[in-house]
Amino acid sequence: MRPVHKEQFGKVRTKIVATVGPASSDPKVLRAMVEAGVDVFRLNFSHGTHAEHTAQYAAIRRIGEELDVRLAILQDLCGPKIRLGEIPGGVVSCDYGAEFLLTSKPDPAGDPRHLSSTHAELPAELAVGQTVLFADGTVAMDVIAQATDQVRLRVTLPGLIRSHQGINIPGGNLSVASLTEKDRTDLDWTAAHPVEYLGLSFVREAEDIAALRRELKSRRIGARIVAKIEKRQALLNLDAIIGEADAVMVARGDLGVELDVTRVPAVQKRIIAACREARVPVITATQMLNSMESSSRPTRAEATDVFNAVLDGTDAVMLSGETAIGQYPVESVATMSRIAAEAESYEFAANRGESPAPWHGDERPRPGPGPGEPRVVARAGQVRPTTESVVAAASLISRRLNAALLAVVTHSGRTALALSKQRNPAPTLALAGDPETARAMALYWGVTPYPLPELADHQQRRAIIQEWCQARGLVAPGDRVVILRGTSPDDPTHNEIEVREIS
Ligand code: PEP
Repeated sequence: MRPVHKEQFGKVRTKIVATVGPASSDPKVLRAMVEAGVDVFRLNFSHGTHAEHTAQYAAIRRIGEELDVRLAILQDLCGPKIRLGEIPGGVVSCDYGAEFLLTSKPDPAGDPRHLSSTHAELPAELAVGQTVLFADGTVAMDVIAQATDQVRLRVTLPGLIRSHQGINIPGGNLSVASLTEKDRTDLDWTAAHPVEYLGLSFVREAEDIAALRRELKSRRIGARIVAKIEKRQALLNLDAIIGEADAVMVARGDLGVELDVTRVPAVQKRIIAACREARVPVITATQMLNSMESSSRPTRAEATDVFNAVLDGTDAVMLSGETAIGQYPVESVATMSRIAAEAESYEFAANRGESPAPWHGDERPRPGPGPGEPRVVARAGQVRPTTESVVAAASLISRRLNAALLAVVTHSGRTALALSKQRNPAPTLALAGDPETARAMALYWGVTPYPLPELADHQQRRAIIQEWCQARGLVAPGDRVVILRGTSPDDPTHNEIEVREIS
């Protein structure tokens, strides 16, 4: 029998995104991470060389084939992150009240109190009274004077800053282009290494995503776009961004610098709820199991954070430093998987009325609106009334019959995504003819993608589903399987639901 992903099909519905780095580049480690529960690997183009990413890419594709699982790759572009230039000596201590100059160019005399940045226009675009944050928000300075090409800053939050660290201007409306020269060079790499998802960092408005989409089209790159929400401006334009994106990431690292950190939990819930309404997959990211970079066990607070993100309705949870540079990459994945499984049991029990409902209980799409009461939210073509109605009906049937499996035949993945957003207790097998669509569905909560031979007819599809279940011992005589088929370009008006009882 072929190995089953996670060796426990249907037990963990929440998807796990793991960042690849020095701690996890070894194919043996990558493979163990897949066996522990990774669905999507993130290649972070803020770090590493193209040669390193190419080796990681090849290993991930090979492991997917060997284990017969559909793994998605998320290439995370750096985007317009503004960074400090070189600081003479590499580091400078910023004492409370000390003054610094920020100019367009580094000081030829090598004074460490003379800072430069990667965005030459920055001094001109700041204003007196504005706050500039360094080193992940651990150091703050206020602008106290401004000339054309330089500003004077005074330290209000002391600490150390180092060469090339990030600079954040909370609420700043800077002219920096959303796609940098480095991003364009990184897209040359993508053209030769097709990925399922491209992460766009520091999205400010929907047009940033539209611009990347045009760029991808001109290069014939078919990747889906993940809008990383990490700026205040993005929150003001959230609905339009979600409408334009294929997926969203709550990028809590930079978000927690741009906003007061106390606002991050509420913003996370708001973004996840909006993505759920719009039928857009959402990833909750950063510091989820941070202490596991150097400890084999998470803190209680971290376990609670992962658990609560699942209850918020996230599709996926992400590991960053834990798997990229940490000492326990495989254990981090296994731990995340176990916490997610606990949260899902709680969620299902809450939906049955057996434990207190999650905070958003009333906002959830009801599993089966009655006839004439379709609950449909139309946004950017993501949600279609017929798909939504058929999906709601199939979900209701699967719940009423306590179905062992939901199987969905999907062309673009849209029907599978709509089904995933219903958070059904029955695990979902999603069959797609296009291998890239199948891999992309690895991000959808509760969905196990599987490739379908291109011209498979009704009988063959049934046989594939039955064979798939039986090979894995997932169904027993008397079990019911609900099969749903969405429209396809060659049959654009036809959807169907079928209930099969295993004999
Ligand atoms: C974040 O800021 O939370 C994030 C995921 O982005 P990056 O890791 O690229 O800084």
